[in-house]
Amino acid sequence: SDELAALIGAEIADRAAGWDLAGAIPPEVLRGLGAKGALCAEVPAEYGGRGLTGRANGELTSHAGALCSSLRSVMTSQGMAAWTIQRFGTRRQRSAELTRLTSGALAAVAFSEPQAGSDLSAIATTITDDGDEVVLNGHKVWSTAAAYADVVVVFGRYQDGAAAVVVPTDTPGVTVSPVAQPLGCRAAGHADVVLDGVRLPADRVLSGTSQSLGLLTTLALTYGRLSVAWGCVGIIRGCLRAAAAHARRREQFGKPLAEHQLVARHLSELLVAEQTATRVCEHASDRWDSGSPEVSGEAVLAKHVAAGRAAHAAATAVQVLASAGSVDGEVVARAYRDAKLMQIIEGSDEICQLILAERALEGVA
Ligand code: FAD
Repeated sequence: SDELAALIGAEIADRAAGWDLAGAIPPEVLRGLGAKGALCAEVPAEYGGRGLTGRANGELTSHAGALCSSLRSVMTSQGMAAWTIQRFGTRRQRSAELTRLTSGALAAVAFSEPQAGSDLSAIATTITDDGDEVVLNGHKVWSTAAAYADVVVVFGRYQDGAAAVVVPTDTPGVTVSPVAQPLGCRAAGHADVVLDGVRLPADRVLSGTSQSLGLLTTLALTYGRLSVAWGCVGIIRGCLRAAAAHARRREQFGKPLAEHQLVARHLSELLVAEQTATRVCEHASDRWDSGSPEVSGEAVLAKHVAAGRAAHAAATAVQVLASAGSVDGEVVARAYRDAKLMQIIEGSDEICQLILAERALEGVA
């Protein structure tokens, strides 16, 4: 994973601010990283992947997140698509689709719809059998990386339950429309995806049978939540570095900012945020790596804690840099916009709180 971290670092170098302002990452950068297995690094070696543990992939994700949350978001999507295929695909599907995702093809995942945001039980996209084909109709919104994607893993209603289908974006009937000027992660390729009578061979339905919608989405989201949580650790680390460096360098009232106690308190809060978010992510990833059934709950906790800490850390870092951090292109300004969105995606703060409250009530008569 050190090699992959170096590779990601070299690709991003000093380009993240420019990508953010332009609202796009050059696709060849993403394909290059994808072909090295860096975008979904947990995929096993038998499918051309790197076979990283969840914890090692988490650290890799935080490394990317400290440099560029847009690229990290693309990693989250690619990883979530790969995990869904690995978890639900047949042997043949795993072999065909995962090998593509480790060879430079890019993927997105699409749950959300205009009427199905927090409430995914309202998903209305249909997947209908028609002989040895299936036909998809629906409208997906805000799919991260869909603007770059060769395939979108689409979640919809199928038979008496639900299914995920690997949809190539060049299939007739698929229209991908980028979200204009998102608040943050501006280069992550968010897009709406309309599916209008999209016909595909039935063997593109993962597992070939219908599943419970709740099980499908929870399994995919658990990967996504861990990935976002580690991305938030990266945001906090980037903010800590920038704020500490600035507070040492910049002098006011005859001494460095860091020697003013109220600024020092900001730095201590950033350190506490970094340590707290890291520990909760490590704990959740260890549950993932040991195959513990507790992982879905721990992933919710990690995502909730890390996103909240990242949003607070980014605001704190902007405060420490003040005017120097109040400019588009500055790392802390970018973090401020990016971190806010982490409190919305993969289960908003409120949805995480509802899930955590259920856990709090477990065992209480
Ligand atoms: P709503 O569900 O309308 O919620 C609005 C507010 O009400 C929120 O604060 C919410 O927490 C609160 N709320 C809703 N229900 C309850 C409740 N029962 N109790 C208390 N509070 C409640 N979707 C994908 O499918 N794939 C992606 O790759 C993807 N990437 C995204 C990237 C970004 C940057 C963003 C912003 C969104 C992305 N989404 C993606 C969509 C995302 O999953 C939804 O935005 C999210 O689930 C929230 O849905 P919503 O925006 O419709 O808000």
